[in-house]
Amino acid sequence: MSDEIREMTREFVQGAAFQKAVADAEREPYAVPLDFLRRCVELGCLGMDAPEAYGGSDLSPSEQATIIEELARGHAGLGLAVLVQNSLCGYPINTFGTEEQKRKYLPRMATGELLVSFGLSEPKNGSDAKGIQLTARRADGRDGWLLKGAKRWITNADRAGLIVLATRTGTVESRGRGLTVFLVELSDDLPGLSRPTPYNKLGQAGSTLCEVIFDDVFVPDGAMLGELSQGWEIINSTLEHSRVAIAAQAVGIARSALDAAEEYAGQRMQFGKLLREHPPVANHLAIMRRQVELSHYLVMRAARQEEADDPLAFVWASLAKLIASETALWAAGDAMLLHGGMGYVNDMPISRIFRDSAVLRIYEGAAHIQVKIVERYLDRDKVIGLFPPQAALMRDPADLTPLDEVIAEIEMWQPRSLATVSS
Ligand SMILES: Cc1cc2nc3c(=O)[nH]c(=O)nc-3n(C[C@H](O)[C@H](O)[C@H](O)COP(=O)(O)OP(=O)(O)OC[C@H]3O[C@@H](n4cnc5c(N)ncnc54)[C@H](O)[C@@H]3O)c2cc1C
Repeated sequence: MSDEIREMTREFVQGAAFQKAVADAEREPYAVPLDFLRRCVELGCLGMDAPEAYGGSDLSPSEQATIIEELARGHAGLGLAVLVQNSLCGYPINTFGTEEQKRKYLPRMATGELLVSFGLSEPKNGSDAKGIQLTARRADGRDGWLLKGAKRWITNADRAGLIVLATRTGTVESRGRGLTVFLVELSDDLPGLSRPTPYNKLGQAGSTLCEVIFDDVFVPDGAMLGELSQGWEIINSTLEHSRVAIAAQAVGIARSALDAAEEYAGQRMQFGKLLREHPPVANHLAIMRRQVELSHYLVMRAARQEEADDPLAFVWASLAKLIASETALWAAGDAMLLHGGMGYVNDMPISRIFRDSAVLRIYEGAAHIQVKIVERYLDRDKVIGLFPPQAALMRDPADLTPLDEVIAEIEMWQPRSLATVSS
């Protein structure tokens, strides 16, 4: 099934409508890519985390990863818009929402009528997500809550009609135990809400990066997602699920860098022959290919563990995110090198891919945070061996362990059990 899905998504990405969306997004980075989203509906990729009863396509983590990888291979920012709608927003609503919430939001999300954002990060709390400070307190004499505080770095919040919002309902000292999530309907005339102009960011055009300020914004009791104080469970579960999709996005970007490098090396002549005919270039491309395939394997492994309900699936998701995001930036940088001076020209796809790749190590849990998770459960030295190889431009791929042997070894890895780690 994943092969069919990959083929369909590739056709979609190579089609005229997608290519127009890429051009539009690059020309107008803050515009809503509506045509693109409408076409995504045909592919069923705006409701991937929702069952068919709510208009969704109910795809498995592997199928979702396949679609996100191919979309990001076509354009990272458009892929991100799809990803946020699904694994960061559709998933928590479908998993923790009431019947009424699911009926109200999921079908409109699947048709692209309703765009949703995920609001966790704040000006003073990014990696330290358990410390968030935006408060929700009971509204006097009304059946609801008042929200006060700010969210920062929120993808597409300027255009979203709904936000999955993490709030503090307990004391600051209660950390993760004092968090509650609300589904807050956003509109420009909502009293107390402001959404300043989105940040001017480095890459990933087609998705915006926003601040959202809540100054005593009222939400009714029915807007609570899950239960009071269940916030950390919802946030954590969502991030663990979505990390597989982000890792898939990273693989898609790494593949697009490799595609661009292979194409250029197959056209550019130097010293009387094509670049790819020079052994150091051929070796370099082979090493990049090996690393991209390793990252792809790790993503699919993480998806497989999630599908098997493995309680340690989150370790595989963090490992995939860590290695794939390092690989994306590395592959983009090396592919740029293989373009020579042309790689530094903004009109060339590789310069966009390079800009797009830089954020993968930062969002949905920065690389240092993934390292903390991974090294608690896996052998540190073995994990270090999965990073992109040092000095790839001086190496012979024959000196590296063949990929099938590396994968066969990883297949045997057993993360330390939860009981061992917490004791
Ligand atoms: C393009 C983009 C889109 C985003 N979309 C969203 C979104 O939709 N919703 C949302 O809620 N957030 C979103 N974010 C926010 C993103 O998740 C945060 O930027 C990220 O979690 C890091 O938080 P921070 O920026 O506050 O960095 P900080 O927490 O200040 O950390 C800075 C750096 O310090 C290091 N570091 C931090 N803590 C530790 C530690 N304990 N040990 C070792 N090193 C550490 C890490 O390298 C980290 O990158 C987005 C960010 C970007 C750039």
